[in-house]
Amino acid sequence: MMKIAIEELAGCSGCTIAVLDLHEMLLDVIEEAEIVYSPVIMDTKEPPEGIDIAFVTGAVRNEENHERLIRLRKRAKTLVALGTCACYGGISGLSMLSSNEDLFQCVYREVETAKPDGVIPTDVPPFLYRAFAVGDLAKIDYYITGCPPKEAFLKKIIPAMIAGDTLELSRKSVCAECDRIMGPVENWSLSRRHEGVPDREHCLLGQGYLCLGSVTFGRCGAACPKNNIPCHGCNGPSLDILREPCRDIYNMMVRRISDLTDKPEKEVEKELYDVAHTMYAFTIGSLIMEDKETSKIRDLVKERGR
Ligand code: SF4
Ligand code: SF4
Ligand code: SF4
Repeated sequence: MMKIAIEELAGCSGCTIAVLDLHEMLLDVIEEAEIVYSPVIMDTKEPPEGIDIAFVTGAVRNEENHERLIRLRKRAKTLVALGTCACYGGISGLSMLSSNEDLFQCVYREVETAKPDGVIPTDVPPFLYRAFAVGDLAKIDYYITGCPPKEAFLKKIIPAMIAGDTLELSRKSVCAECDRIMGPVENWSLSRRHEGVPDREHCLLGQGYLCLGSVTFGRCGAACPKNNIPCHGCNGPSLDILREPCRDIYNMMVRRISDLTDKPEKEVEKELYDVAHTMYAFTIGSLIMEDKETSKIRDLVKERGR
């Protein structure tokens, strides 16, 4: 029987919960494969040798995450990055916008669940100098993006992986899955999500909301725009951005808005700079994205911490 493992690095465990959300389909999965390691599901501390498929969730933020990733790579025939933290650093990467001191102060003293003694522990694994996507530090065989990956997609992909089948999957962006129409774009100005209520028929970007659908990988069925919420990029960058060194989330959004509104790109760029960090909310911890010539990640991290 095939042996499956699910590892947790720096993340929220939501990706493992998404696997559990397969509900009764899990019964079919465990007929074909045994889950031999998953710290969220079972009381287990170390992955065994001889794993067939290992799913790794979460980014690599500290030395322990790194050790676990390397160990899993050695013990698994196939290693799958599951979720956007693993694929691109995800929300764990946002920690690069604060200093280590501020992060510890917040986690151990300021949040409501902090212990009243306010003691900052000294025996936690040391941070690496930045967050990493797992593919920055180990060879990854497959990537499944999403924060977390959507149930309908996991229902297709997991049984196929276990059966060794190949699937034809969409490679399009969120916009390609969205059925909103472009309305008249007049007097365009940027609106924050809490400002006003967008109409349900027309493109959210055309209405002034920063919808990242055109720069975001699809396969979620445009879940957010269908619920009147702009896409915030949780599936990671679209394929054209990944493939083209000169394309980046920020510069492609500037270009798109400039095309829509006839405003010069320089003007749009100024207007968007204050919200640039929100465009990298899921990719700031990815070296692939930071290394792009046109990336704003380096500036944002320099301004705010690491
Ligand atoms: S990708 Fe999202 S759901 Fe998965 S571990 Fe990261 S934050 Fe949690
Ligand atoms: S930008 Fe957003 S709202 Fe507009 S078509 Fe693309 S996904 Fe839909
Ligand atoms: S629409 Fe965007 S933010 Fe919403 S689930 Fe899809 S990729 Fe994620």
